[in-house]
Amino acid sequence: MKSKIVKALGTSAVNVPLQVMNINRRELQPHDVEMEILFCGICHSDLHQIKNDFGGTMWPIVPGHEIVGKVTRVGVHVKNFKIGERAAIGCIVDSCGKCEYCEDDLEQFCDEGTTYSFNSADKYLGGATYGGFSESYVCNEKYMLHVPKSLDLASTAPLLCAGITVYSPLKHWQAGPGKKVGILGIGGLGHLAIKIAKAMGAEVIVFTTSSSKIEDAKRLGADVAVLSSDAEQMAKYARKLHFIIDTVSAKHDVNTYLNLLRHDGSVVLVGLPPEPLEVGAFNVIMGRRSFAGSNIGGIAETQEMLDFCASHNITADIELVSVQQVNEAFDRLEKGDVKYRFVIDMAGLKK
Ligand code: NAP
Ligand code: ZN
Repeated sequence: MKSKIVKALGTSAVNVPLQVMNINRRELQPHDVEMEILFCGICHSDLHQIKNDFGGTMWPIVPGHEIVGKVTRVGVHVKNFKIGERAAIGCIVDSCGKCEYCEDDLEQFCDEGTTYSFNSADKYLGGATYGGFSESYVCNEKYMLHVPKSLDLASTAPLLCAGITVYSPLKHWQAGPGKKVGILGIGGLGHLAIKIAKAMGAEVIVFTTSSSKIEDAKRLGADVAVLSSDAEQMAKYARKLHFIIDTVSAKHDVNTYLNLLRHDGSVVLVGLPPEPLEVGAFNVIMGRRSFAGSNIGGIAETQEMLDFCASHNITADIELVSVQQVNEAFDRLEKGDVKYRFVIDMAGLKK
């Protein structure tokens, strides 16, 4: 298949800094949309993948799956996007479209395997898909999102992964009035979980390892922020919470949090610690509790989340960085030094 060369930021091995490289984008198919990328968020999953934390990284890798920009070309059969319109791409760029999961708008669980926006097998060009740290992206319009006009484009980028990853379980486990929802970790996902859970009407109790984030958590909308090392404060919430969204990216003790659940409550893991987590039997059998998980969200739900965020005026708190600052941003993300999401201004890639 014909392709077009575009500039991207990628790396060829663990511990090799990201640098400008050339990649191929496929020739526009009849249902494809080409988007010029204006901003792209840096998610902790990008960091896991460039460190090969899960062992499946295909090299070279071009990360980035919180992608926003402007439509530049449309294929002959495209119905829902017009040139010049704002658009977005999240984690999913393809799926089989016919299995029971795809039919239920759960493309993230596609029977034939979801194609992710980066580090997945590319069905068109072979090799790996290359992500949003690049000049442009081409995908079928089915996987492209509309960005509501009222949302600021740069701070909308993190909604495409961090936003949907917390919106989907908050909705599934029914955050709302009368529900006490715990959020574990205040990073990219966690700070959006606070905002979204609050907008859904829940009472939000946040648990953090960082004393520097306690005040900020309240500014973000949390009703209570608890330093997880403060045993006295932690004890106050024993058996009190309906469910907890766990966004922690590293190994941690989930039993502490299972014990904060009411009966029938769930700790819902969305964080991806590379190592297995231990669950003590008594922490789940007592109170009929669950230890569950959730993976991003489908395309229809991602659009619903963007519309929900627009109607509640929610975007991420971001630190905008240039293309030249990307490696420094990854170093800072690894140290937990970001409030609360780095977003790359992709304009620098064209120079
Ligand atoms: P992030 O911005 O780095 O935030 C993670 C937060 O976890 C940190 O800010 C910190 O919060 C807390 N934390 C980090 N290390 C910890 C430790 N050792 N013990 C306890 N708490 C710790 O990362 P993110 O972008 O929000 O992503 C979070 C995780 O979700 C990553 O593993 C990422 O790969 C994963 N993820 C999963 C999905 C999915 O579909 N399931 C989608 C996107 C991302 P405090 O300072 O407040 O303690
Ligand atoms: Zn992500």
